[in-house]
Amino acid sequence: MYLTISSIKDYLSCPFKFRLSHVERLQKKVPKAILAFGTIIHFSIAKYYEEKVIPKETFKAIWQAEAETEYEYSNGDTHEVLLEQGEKILEKWHSHEETPHEATTVEKQRYIEIAGKVPFWSTIDFTGENGNLLLDWKTASAKYPDCKAKLDLQLTAYSYVLAETEKMPTKVGFGVFIKKKTPEIQYLFSTRTKEDLKNFEKIALKVWESIQDEFFVKTPGMQCSWCDYLPICTDEPEAENFYIVVPPRY
Ligand code: SF4
Repeated sequence: MYLTISSIKDYLSCPFKFRLSHVERLQKKVPKAILAFGTIIHFSIAKYYEEKVIPKETFKAIWQAEAETEYEYSNGDTHEVLLEQGEKILEKWHSHEETPHEATTVEKQRYIEIAGKVPFWSTIDFTGENGNLLLDWKTASAKYPDCKAKLDLQLTAYSYVLAETEKMPTKVGFGVFIKKKTPEIQYLFSTRTKEDLKNFEKIALKVWESIQDEFFVKTPGMQCSWCDYLPICTDEPEAENFYIVVPPRY
């Protein structure tokens, strides 16, 4: 067992969801198209930094090959709509004035033990400016609020990892791919302090302790509406048939 920032966020939103997703490792049989879309956007960006391949070309080649794959589409998306949006959005990203064109590391996996106790894996999308800049790429349907770069736990966690393994970044932020008819790119920047890192460390320790105690209560809330495990929680007939057990990522 290890933690990632997604699993910590899952635990904080609903410990029962954490158990289903990260202990039992249940995943929906038919994956969401929007998740595959985001993964291919990430891959196209990484290939641009590593091999200078035009990102929209990488995206187009991979997404076209996915035409026959069964995905769960939502919000009016289809395979063709996502193909068009992916190409447009990557073209915009490539020519955006704030997009960095050189990277220090790309999609690099790092392992640490938080406070010598909590096994923690991360894959950090991008560092640049000789390791001083940390960026995370996001796909979203609307702009992020300004406070997100300042408060988001993922940027804090990854600053913690970099501070432990290389050096503390002086600037952190999101590059947001806003997926709509006319796509937009939004960059949001902030910083992290030693107090922010200490706060993250306390959260990680508390979550780890609760997991060791097998504290996996259901915490219903707004998040249930989009939770993958709603069929299990609502005792939908044959809900178990919607899922497969997946191997650990790390
Ligand atoms: S549906 Fe709600 S209560 Fe059930 S696992 Fe998801 S978030 Fe938790």
